[in-house]
Amino acid sequence: GQPVVAVVGRPNVGKSTLVNRVLGRRAAVVEDVPGVTRDRIAYDAVWSGRRFTLVDTGGWEPDAAGLAAMVSEQAQAALDTADAVLFIVDVLTGATDADEAVARVLHRSGLPVILVANKVDDARSEADAAALWSLGLGEPHPVSALHGRGSGDLLDAVLAVL
Ligand code: GDP
Ligand code: MG
Repeated sequence: GQPVVAVVGRPNVGKSTLVNRVLGRRAAVVEDVPGVTRDRIAYDAVWSGRRFTLVDTGGWEPDAAGLAAMVSEQAQAALDTADAVLFIVDVLTGATDADEAVARVLHRSGLPVILVANKVDDARSEADAAALWSLGLGEPHPVSALHGRGSGDLLDAVLAVL
């Protein structure tokens, strides 16, 4: 079948907004309240004539102890079936401890990871995006899922690893 790209990240970082941006329609549910996308939902996407499956997830939740961030079951399941991962980080909050924990999980997964610095709505936030090099996942791709800024370059980067 076609390659599968899992979209992962903490609640409210803009995963569903990015999915809608890629699809060119409002299919995924966007909500100001964290944790609205409860299940994994797969969508057929196409870019530059190449088809792939985009999986929106409900996000990574901290574990009960509240210390190390644990991969939620659904996000882990998404990883198990993915060929590549779009890891979304919110530049308005910056990388949190949970983001760093997730970054380690992703690094260990061995999957190609594309680091997305989301909510870069204007040039002023580009420096905040560059700060995400610290996650050790390579180049952060600055994007505004809300306004579309950077999304074409991001999708080119996705196709390059599929
Ligand atoms: P999810 O929980 O990761 O799926 O996040 P959502 O896609 O539901 O978005 C959470 C909130 O962040 C919503 O209020 C979105 O409008 C907002 N958001 C998403 N992308 C952007 C962006 O690029 N810029 C800004 N300023 N807000 C965004
Ligand atoms: Mg969502």
